[in-house]
Amino acid sequence: MFHRYLPLLLGSFLLSAPAALAQKTYLHCGRLLDMRSDRAQTAVTLVVENGRVLAVEPGYSAPASARDKVIDLKNRTVLPGLIDCHVHLEGETSKDNFLREFTENPADVAFGSLDHARKTLLAGFTTVRDLGGSGVNVALRNAINQGKVVGPRIFTARKAISGTGGHMDPTNGYRLDLMGTAGPADGVINSPDEARQAVREQYKRGADLIKIASTGGVLSVAKDGSAAQMTEAEIRAVVETARDLGLSVACHAHGAEGMKRAIRAGVTSIEHGTLMDDETMKLMAKNGTWYVPTITAGKSVADSARIPNYYPPLVTPKALAIGPRLQGTFGRAYKAGVKIAFGTDAAVFRHGVNALEFRYMVEAGMPAAQALRSATVSAAELLGQTANLGTLEPGKLADVVAVEGDPVQDINAMQQVRFVMKQGVVYRQD
Ligand SMILES: [Zn+2]
Repeated sequence: MFHRYLPLLLGSFLLSAPAALAQKTYLHCGRLLDMRSDRAQTAVTLVVENGRVLAVEPGYSAPASARDKVIDLKNRTVLPGLIDCHVHLEGETSKDNFLREFTENPADVAFGSLDHARKTLLAGFTTVRDLGGSGVNVALRNAINQGKVVGPRIFTARKAISGTGGHMDPTNGYRLDLMGTAGPADGVINSPDEARQAVREQYKRGADLIKIASTGGVLSVAKDGSAAQMTEAEIRAVVETARDLGLSVACHAHGAEGMKRAIRAGVTSIEHGTLMDDETMKLMAKNGTWYVPTITAGKSVADSARIPNYYPPLVTPKALAIGPRLQGTFGRAYKAGVKIAFGTDAAVFRHGVNALEFRYMVEAGMPAAQALRSATVSAAELLGQTANLGTLEPGKLADVVAVEGDPVQDINAMQQVRFVMKQGVVYRQD
């Protein structure tokens, strides 16, 4: 597996070393969607220096020095690097997923996550929010930031939080003698005090944000998929503690009651939001709560559940009931004016096909330009990273992707990523 990374890593060293000598890269862009507006510019040059955008110039500028580099993207549409606000890089769906919890060591998980991270980046997703794993996601984030391995920039929730037997209890479905008593350090809480401790434990262990589950979920080995599983006081304790530590809170929820408690308590985003009713949508629009839809996950779990014995018996009926409803909910939430940030729940389906979500969003009634905005400008806003990410303009990080065709005319073009640059380093150039 490593030999495949080697050329990429060497490439990044070659590019980053001359950067110290202020080498510039000139990207000749046939069509540029800088996402500052929805209007495309044609025949422009994006000048990159030291990992950031230095200038956007009309026409195809010639390099000023022989050290500078030109990249020809004249037949491409160029956009800011894409952001997926809901992935899990540690794992990936498979029929034996539940068994793997008992057979894989953290090092096995880590090697698997390298492949997921590389696929995600090469699909054009230069930044992700990792919304829960075991802690390997923190080490992965650090290794990527240090240039040791290839992957997207990660903002990680580390281990997600819920109540005993809730969606994030890591021992659901285990044999009694293996269940033990998971506590706040494992992301399991049963009071506002434990909620505060759990948030502080995640912070201490390297989380960039907090993820909770205020309702049941589809893939946990537990009966309920949508009823409320945290009290409003517990969620409020999470939000207040996270805020003190400078962390935002992402909240997994399928049922409306769990969503309303979370929105009233002040969470930053609702993930999935499957059974969102009109009242919840109004509350989200009023409070400015983000919605991260994960339509791709909904469709994928329903597809997998139709394969006999793919999931444990408790999971299958939940997947069939909840999965297919996400796309319709998304369409209604968009029309109701809820703020939407792009997110897929990749891991529930295979990594690297995250751009399918664009197609599902457009099918549900969102204009293509808005769908692109959700994965760039809006996602950067949700991350609190508008100074660095989301648009291509001077001063922003040089996260750049290029696709074949015009995604505003045909959103499926987003599945044809041909060029990926992250912070000025080229990782893909077909
Ligand atoms: Zn998820």
